[in-house]
Amino acid sequence: MEKMFRCQRCKKLCPVKDAKCTCGGVLEEVVLVAFYAKAATKTKKLESWEEKRGKRKERSSEEYSNWRIAVFTRDQLTCQECGQEGGELSAHHIKPWATYPAFRYVVSNGQTLCLVCHRKLHEA
Ligand SMILES: [Zn+2]
Ligand SMILES: [Zn+2]
Ligand SMILES: [Zn+2]
Repeated sequence: MEKMFRCQRCKKLCPVKDAKCTCGGVLEEVVLVAFYAKAATKTKKLESWEEKRGKRKERSSEEYSNWRIAVFTRDQLTCQECGQEGGELSAHHIKPWATYPAFRYVVSNGQTLCLVCHRKLHEA
């Protein structure tokens, strides 16, 4: 599971924990959670999304990881739906992964969501 760190004082993002923030603020841990359909109510749509992602995982995991980090960084580790900062966050594809392969690693197609909002969105 990937982690990032965020200064509680100036809200700057830090990729490594031992690097102290230049403002002297305390770094808090943010857990980047991969969103899996299993955690949500099962629907055909979600299953196929997970299936397809799984198949391509090895080849594209680095690209996916970079995409997520870029999305989280742009959104300042804040849920774009409810405004939750930090905690457990995941990156949502606005244009679905399975149906829009060309948008898989486009940062503007990503949205930072907390797990609760992410599940709600896929269950709706
Ligand atoms: Zn700081
Ligand atoms: Zn949220
Ligand atoms: Zn999603």
